[in-house]
Amino acid sequence: MADFMPAGVVPEARPLDDYADVIGRPQLAEIRNLARYVEGRTFQHVNSTAVGGGVAEILARLVPMMRDLGVDARWSVMEGDAEFFKATKAFHNALHGMLVPLDDSMFDAYERATERNRGLLQDCDYVALHDPQPAGLIEYRRDVRSKFVWRCHIDVSEAEARLWAFLRRRIERFDASIFHLPQYTKGLHIPQVLLPPAIDPLSEKNCDLPDHEVKSIVASHGIDPEKPMVLQVSRFDWLKDPLGVVEAFGIVRRWMECQLVLAGGSASDDPEGAEVLAAVLRRAEGVPDVHILSLPPDAHRTINALQRAATVIVQKSVREGFGLVVTEGMWKGKPVVGGSVGGIRYQLVHDVTGFLVHSPEGCAFRVRQLLADPERARIMGQRAQESVRERYLLPSYIRNWILVLLAMDRGPVPVNHL
Ligand code: UDP
Repeated sequence: MADFMPAGVVPEARPLDDYADVIGRPQLAEIRNLARYVEGRTFQHVNSTAVGGGVAEILARLVPMMRDLGVDARWSVMEGDAEFFKATKAFHNALHGMLVPLDDSMFDAYERATERNRGLLQDCDYVALHDPQPAGLIEYRRDVRSKFVWRCHIDVSEAEARLWAFLRRRIERFDASIFHLPQYTKGLHIPQVLLPPAIDPLSEKNCDLPDHEVKSIVASHGIDPEKPMVLQVSRFDWLKDPLGVVEAFGIVRRWMECQLVLAGGSASDDPEGAEVLAAVLRRAEGVPDVHILSLPPDAHRTINALQRAATVIVQKSVREGFGLVVTEGMWKGKPVVGGSVGGIRYQLVHDVTGFLVHSPEGCAFRVRQLLADPERARIMGQRAQESVRERYLLPSYIRNWILVLLAMDRGPVPVNHL
């Protein structure tokens, strides 16, 4: 097992040259040139789960690729008890602007877990703490030469005021912060960099799969590979609105022969999964042709096959950081119908690379349109794929990370709009 990854995560490194067919040689050469400036530097990432959710998904690709470029990158996962994860899930929801009761015991649980993880930080040239969970570790920075960056993966634009004040005191001690989108930035007194995330086109989750394999994986889950399929892949989380998806599908199904697949798993830092899954199962009772798959965290090939088999992909979130599953669906040339929130709004250009919707009824309307018009769906999917190729693939993400590191080396220069 690699000692630079969390226990149980197997790095799937691909040499950068393998990406030539996807992004072209000139971009690869540019990345290699830039990487020379950070070769041999140490770079630690810290987050709160090794599997499940977008952050773990990104780190599992980013860390091995940075190592391939000569950066001594490592990934550590902080440990927490049930109380801590309950608190940080409530924080997550409240930062996304949901009305969630927060009490002192949650802030205490956060501080206790921060203290318990104080030994996690290594003396590295750069340290990235991802999202609110590990942000408190900034108190324990030891080596003044290390550069610390807070990498925010969520939409904090409507964050609950007391919680944001609590976090802000910590965040402003970092050397820089990174947000996905301009509207997520917060008027901090440290540099704020814009850097949307990316997917790895060669990973098991996103690589090409032969048709026969797609069909056989889909059939092995009891799904008819020949029947039109509407798919949502997500952790079972209220903010992903799985109940709204079932409701929308119920409307579509009255008019058309089709099936819904809701595929998801859980993340070790998300304690709400079982409750949401139970509610989804109850809501789907009596709705025909609904398949609910509870998948293990390493079901990347299965998710890849489902996304490739889907006729329409839905991501009906009511709050969203970026929505990597939307990027994944677009990359597979699929039309995506997404909730008009967070990063989904940024990725989908309405009626060009996908549809943005505001309600189950709106979602049903757009899904029906796409199921009824395969040519329109095909063209939309093609445009979606090209849009991902230009903006959201791992090599350019790495390039931008290197620029952030170099900018931090040069001191407190505002490094906006990468
Ligand atoms: N994912 C997964 N298994 C699941 C559900 C999701 O591997 O059961 C992956 C999904 O393919 C995507 C990531 O987890 O890569 C979810 O990222 P996103 O930004 O969409 O949402 P988050 O879970 O971070 O809120």
